[in-house]
Amino acid sequence: MSFKLIQEIPSPSEIFKLMPLSEAGKKIKLERDRMIRDVFEGRDDRFILIIGPCSADNETAVIDYVSRLSKIQKEVEDKIIMIPRIYTNKPRTTGEGYKGMAHQPDVSKKANMVEGIKAIRQLHIRAIEETGLSCADEMLYPDNYAYLEDLLSYVAIGARSVENQQHRLTTSGLEIPAGMKNPTGGDISVMLNAIRAAQVGHTFIYRGWEVQTPGNPLAHAIMRGSVDQHGRNFPNYHYEDIKHLIKMYEKRDLDYPGVIIDLNHANSNKRFGEQPRIAYEVVRNRHYDSGFRNYVKGLMIESYIEEGSQAVDGSIYGKSITDPCLGWTASEELIREIARRL
Ligand code: PEP
Ligand code: MN
Repeated sequence: MSFKLIQEIPSPSEIFKLMPLSEAGKKIKLERDRMIRDVFEGRDDRFILIIGPCSADNETAVIDYVSRLSKIQKEVEDKIIMIPRIYTNKPRTTGEGYKGMAHQPDVSKKANMVEGIKAIRQLHIRAIEETGLSCADEMLYPDNYAYLEDLLSYVAIGARSVENQQHRLTTSGLEIPAGMKNPTGGDISVMLNAIRAAQVGHTFIYRGWEVQTPGNPLAHAIMRGSVDQHGRNFPNYHYEDIKHLIKMYEKRDLDYPGVIIDLNHANSNKRFGEQPRIAYEVVRNRHYDSGFRNYVKGLMIESYIEEGSQAVDGSIYGKSITDPCLGWTASEELIREIARRL
């Protein structure tokens, strides 16, 4: 192998000792996990919004953003449960470019994985302790989940990872809801197979151990739209798409069938400004059909402080350096309007 060894990575228990979550933080996380679980298990009919920037690129801006969300969370708490997106690892289409805070805690400096692990743990701890909101992240590298396992209330398995066996097996051992995205090609049965794989128990190798998992009944679907062989985007949030998904779900014996609809990515054709329109269509369909309502547990929204996106070396505070996001003013209005229309 031509790997050059750079530095040894500390174990999760070493990192936990160095950077523990406070007792108050542990309480918040426990209480939020229970509340979120109740939604996915059908005991609470509040609507979930997994909302935040495409990538958490800057600690100050992300904490500023999550603090703003936390103020609105209080206003809409009888209708909505918000789970901020703090996405610290980014899958890249060609593997090149910014791979997230876990690789590069400072975008102007080169990658440092040990500093990256510390930076993402610090960010998730601060979100819980300073805003009272435990967050969502993408589980891009299953091994790295161990560094955040006491902090996350939701994980997504991305469109490029959902067919991967190690992602599916690791998800089967998580105790929080895990959204399995439809793959970029749009094959819904691949996503349902991933949900099945995550819902049953497995024996496999994880971080140097033979481990056994019980299966995660809270694994569910995320519809993110698809891309065809010519690179054209196709949405899958419409009434017919979700009714078809429900039909396919009904043919399988899966626990707590549910779906989150991703408003951006191929559903918006990456036109971030379309997200409110799509949100309102989904909310209207929930009123139209009780089956639709029971299955659709919430939305995923890409939102930050400034709207749009900038180059990775751009210096605008709170503006995405990956996918374009809705700005703060529009996001605030969107959350309040969703609450009104629910
Ligand atoms: C994302 O949520 O930013 C993302 C990368 O999603 P997907 O895996 O659907 O492309
Ligand atoms: Mn994105």
